[in-house]
Parts: sequence; C-alpha cells; structure tokens
Amino acid sequence: MMAHGAAPLPELVQLVAAELVSEVCSVYAARPGEILELVATQGLNPQAVGRTRLRVGEGIVGLCAATTQVLNLPDAQNHPAFAYRPETGEEPFASMLAVPVRRASRSLGVLVVQNRAPRRYAEDEVEALETVAMLLAEVLAGGGAADGAEEGVGATVPRVFAGATLASGIAIGPVVLHGNRPRSLRLLADDPAAELARLHDAAQRMQQGLDELIAGVPDGPTTGSDGSASREVLDAYRLVAADAGWLRRVAEAIRGGLSAEAAVQRVAGELHDRMRRITDPYLRERLADLEDLARRLVAALGGDQPRPPVPAGAILLARRLGPAELLDWHAAGIGGIVIEEASPAGHAAILARALGLPAVGGSRGMLDAAGPGDEAVVDADEGQLVLRPEVEVKQVYLRALQTRSALRAGWAALRDRPAATADAVRVKLMLNVGLSMELGQLDTTGAEGIGLYRTEIAMLARGSIADVAEQAASYARVLDAAAGRPVLFRTLDLGADKLLPGSAPEEENPAMGWRSLRVGLDRPALLRRQLRALLLAAAGRPLSVMFPMVATVGEFRAARALLLAEAGRVRPQPESISVGTMLEVPALMWQLDELLREADFVSVGSNDLLQFLFAADRGTPALFNRYDVLSQPMFSLLERLLDAARGARGGAGVPVSLCGEAASRPLEAMALVGLGFTTLSMPGAAILPVKALLARLDLAAFRPVLAAIRRNPSGSGSLREPIAVWAREQGLPV
Ligand code: PEP
Ligand code: MG
Repeated sequence: MMAHGAAPLPELVQLVAAELVSEVCSVYAARPGEILELVATQGLNPQAVGRTRLRVGEGIVGLCAATTQVLNLPDAQNHPAFAYRPETGEEPFASMLAVPVRRASRSLGVLVVQNRAPRRYAEDEVEALETVAMLLAEVLAGGGAADGAEEGVGATVPRVFAGATLASGIAIGPVVLHGNRPRSLRLLADDPAAELARLHDAAQRMQQGLDELIAGVPDGPTTGSDGSASREVLDAYRLVAADAGWLRRVAEAIRGGLSAEAAVQRVAGELHDRMRRITDPYLRERLADLEDLARRLVAALGGDQPRPPVPAGAILLARRLGPAELLDWHAAGIGGIVIEEASPAGHAAILARALGLPAVGGSRGMLDAAGPGDEAVVDADEGQLVLRPEVEVKQVYLRALQTRSALRAGWAALRDRPAATADAVRVKLMLNVGLSMELGQLDTTGAEGIGLYRTEIAMLARGSIADVAEQAASYARVLDAAAGRPVLFRTLDLGADKLLPGSAPEEENPAMGWRSLRVGLDRPALLRRQLRALLLAAAGRPLSVMFPMVATVGEFRAARALLLAEAGRVRPQPESISVGTMLEVPALMWQLDELLREADFVSVGSNDLLQFLFAADRGTPALFNRYDVLSQPMFSLLERLLDAARGARGGAGVPVSLCGEAASRPLEAMALVGLGFTTLSMPGAAILPVKALLARLDLAAFRPVLAAIRRNPSGSGSLREPIAVWAREQGLPV
C-alpha cells in the first residue's frame, strides 16, 4: 500500500490495529522544537489529531523518541514517564507498545499500539511493528506528515554554526548533503534465498570497490604503490565488520522477510542505537565506519540510485562520515566538509588534513537548517560554517581566498629553501606524521625531517596492535621515505582519548590515568616488541626514539633500559641510537639537571603540557582558548627549559624541539622562535606558512619587544594580543 503513491496514514493505523488485534494504533510525527504531534489515530479521540503534542522526553511517546528504544509496557499508566492527555480518551487502555520511527539515525516520530487488557506484546508483534515503523519512516521523511519539520522563513536567512577546526582552510560552494541519495522503497521480499544471494554478491562487490577506492588515494610515495595507507583504513573496516558479526545478523533479518536493503538498514540501525551512548571518541569513529559500510552495502545492492554529479567545490554536510566515504566525496570534487559528529583526532579529520580539505566538526543543528544547493562558507580556520552568507560576507571570504592563493604561490617558491628568519637565524621545521599517507608531505613541504612520528595512530586505524614484523615493515617505510632526514619515533601513546577497542579502562580522569609510557612500563612485553620493531626497521641506519608522558627521570631510565636491552639483541645494530623524552608533564621541570644528563634530546608536547600546566582538559570544548600557550607561565617554563638545555653537559647542550599544535600556528611559532626555539615540528599544512612568516621576521627586533611584553603582566594570562599587534604592525602574515 505504502510503496504505491501517497501514504494514507488513517488507513495505515486502521490496518495495523486490525492486524495486531489492538484497540488503538497512533502515529506521532516530529515537529520543529523537539515536539511530537499526534497525526493519525485509530481508537483514540479523532479530535486529538493535530492537537495532542508532547515534548521529546515527555510521556511514554516522548521517552520512546528520546531514547529511540522500543517500550513494551503491560501497565503503561503506572509507568513513571506516563503523561495523561485527557483529550485523547486513552484512560481505558492499559498496555502500550511504542516503537521509534527513524531514518538515517534521525528521529521522525513514534508509532504506538495500545490495548485494554494488560499484556506484554510478543516478540513477533514487536518485530512487525518495527517493520511498519521502517515503512512509515520513508513516508514521514518523504514529505508526508513530517513536512512541517522544515524551517519555514528561517530556511532563507544566513546562519553561522560554530564548531572545531578539523583541517584548516576556507572553502565556498553550494551545499550537498551526505546520505541523501534517493532510495527505492522495496522493503519486504518473498524470496529470502534470492535476497541472501544478492547480499552475498553485494558484500563481495562492496569489498572490491573499497580496495579499488583506497588503492587510488592520491598523495604520498607509499600510497597506492604499496597500499600501506589502504591497509590501515581497511583494517579498521575489517574490525567493524568482524567485530559486530553484522552480516550474519543481516542474513537473519532477511530470513525474517525483509529485503536485503531493509535488512542492512535495520541491523545498522540497531547497532547504531547500541553504540549511540558511547562517548569515547575513538569508538564513535567506529560508528561512522559502520554507517559507511551499511550505506555502501545498500548501494552495492542497487538500493541507492547513483549519486548525481557533485558541483565542483561543493560543501559537504554530514552527520558522521566514514573514511572511505570521505575519499569518495573527495574524488567527486568537493571543496570542504562540515561534520556534526567528528573529533579532531578522528579518522575523517586525519584524512581531511592529509587531503588538504578544509573541515569543521561539531557544528550542531546545521543539518536541520541547510538544504541542498544553499550557498555555504567553511571557515575552518575559525571553526565555523556560514550558511547562506550575506553578499558582503561572501566578498570578504572570496578576498581571503584570493590572498591565500597568492600567498600559496609565494610559499611554493619557499619549499626548497631552508627556513630562516629575515636576519638569517636558521630554524629547523619538521613534520608531525601519524599515517603513512602523510609521508608524501616530506617532499611537498620541504620539511627537514619528522619531528614527531605518532606510532599509535596506525594502531588505532587498524584497531589492534600490529605484530613485530608488521610494525618493523611500517617503520622501515617511514625511514625509507625520510631518505636520511631525521625521524623521531614516539613510542605508543595510547590511553586517554586514544583507545583501542576493548581496552577502555574505567577511569575517572583518563588523561591523567594509566596511559602512554605508564602502560608501556607496566606491560613491558608490549613496549619491547615495539622497540624491537623500531631497531629492526633501522637496519643499520641511525634511530631516534622518544617516550611520551614521562613524569620522572626514573621512568625515562626504565624505558631507555628496555630499548638498550633490545638493541643488544638485534643485528645489524643501528648506526646510532638517540633516546629522548617528551616534556608533557610539568614535574619534569624540577628534574632537569638529572634528565638532561641522560636524555639525548627533549621534545615539548605543548598540547599535554598546556593541559597539565593549567589543569584544563584539552578535549573539553568549553575550555578551548581559555588558557594560552602565549602566556607568562608557559613562556617562563619554556625559557627555563631552553636555558637548562643550552647549558647542559658542560655547555655542549641538549637539543630541544616543540611538537605540539602550538608550533603550527604562525603567531605561536614566531613567539617560540623569539623565546629561543630553533626546531619546531608541525603538521604538513603548517610548514610553508610558518616558513613564510619566519622569512619576514626580524628576530633581533622582535626579541626585545617580546621581553617588554613579558614584563607587562596581563592578568588574563594571555599575551597574545600585544604580540599579534606588533606582528600586524610589521605586516607579518600571522
Ligand atoms: C602533545 O601533547 O603536545 C603531543 C605532541 O602529543 P599528542 O598530541 O599526540 O598527545
Ligand atoms: Mg601528548
């Protein structure tokens, strides 16, 4: 009935009530402002249609919508959430079954049946109602009763949505919406065997398609040729596919009478509900993977129409985005992305940075406000989306884009020149790398080496720790790509927000918990395997290793001892072994004499250092920008470190670099060089802008200015403003 033509809701509720032998069947549809409105009923007072409204979370219907969970209640009126609505005339009905109506994880309403007799509805009844809810979702989403969910006049006015920068840059273009392809409505099937065969074929085709897609990833000498990047991404997929056993569950749903497409959607929906409550950012990434897989499988089944061509430079808006989907859209020519649920450490963000796609995450509400074709600006530098910008606003962004392309043309010329200030002070700019697909940036940016190789990122991408041989092969590829340039490998920094599936310990404060080197020292077998892999990868070349989250010299010593013990066993020995520490825990500042006698180098992890110095969780959005690297306490700390390192080892000195995000912003980089840093490590996209700034910086003039600014306490803690004012007066591109 519903597959043909318009959806007659009154007939639907009548039919469902009859089939389920229920006195009542009602449909509540979502309205703007988190409201659920009774739009059709069989058995309740017809006058209540269009009048009875509940907030999401209010009453049993509201609870069902808020939790997206089925509520099967023999005695609904005594349920704590029950909200009495006299106009409906529902007093006589004791039992109630409420099923959420959703589509693509969006709540569209609630479908309810009620009976006079207290009863718990049987499993097959629940399943039947869920199937009807799926059909209903198509109707409500397709312009039926939920049409009022549009924004009305609001849909044409400019809107700005704040979020977080995932990958910097600016893009202007028409909006395209992710996951908005037209879909066929065939949801039930008579021949399960034929559907199972389709599922099998489609799963194979999907896998093939993925292999091809990822093998074709541009950028980077190692990508495509040896497929290492594709392995990392595919491994993550395999984990999701294997872990959930979800294809098996899809097959079960097909045997229950659903078409293959509907079965995939049902299972993905169930998994989505189970994973929805997970707050861990890494596991939430898996959720995006899962949705990506489900959509791909439906496409492979022929359930999705081919995507119409994307206007060049379009802005993609998505609730979540899996890595393969991002690659797909990138290949289609999009110019920028905004993802409602994405963290800077997530896959989508890592890939967006690797591909140079401006990306913003966490802009809540934008999907409800945007329509396909709306003009939008992604201002990823400021972490915002401007929807339907005013003409003047658009002009400002167009000019900014022009300035950037002019700057970029100038930067390209800088690539092969060593970084130095205008008054010829050499500064080494190194690369932060996490995935092998980023290695190509060594050449495209002219970086002098890798100042931070985050070894845990590849493990996170594959979902488990690789064995020694695999690790060694991957580290060897890094050294090959560096071709003699230095590489500082950091040992596994897992824990806090970087969790492997199943490893999440119950901790109140994971950032200060059992993480990083602490795990390595308590589980030495894990750390030793990694150290062995690094030594093997060096294969006679020089090797530099550093340890994260060192809090005491004793920990550094213990970790170094493990490395040296392993080194005694491998052949050939590296040409040299340099063992360093990250400085992320302020306590190390009071152990500098001892530390600098033993560490061959120090790399400041300003991200963690800032969070521990100011006791401000780096992952809490409400604290963003509240504390500043450009501040009295941080400057004093860094200066003291630089002084101590310069004078260490009888004046021979110990090299110090800084590899946190602070190094990647031109203004911060300028201040750090002003303090005395001569090595900074940053993501690839930052190298040329920082180099361009330094090339125009008169360091001898800046130093006394910085000293004067520091003598003038600001009280607010931040010295950003006066430093920026000076830079702008000098015409520096900060
Ligand atoms: C840091 O803390 O500054 C750092 C570079 O390490 P990560 O960001 O990986 O914690
Ligand atoms: Mg850190």
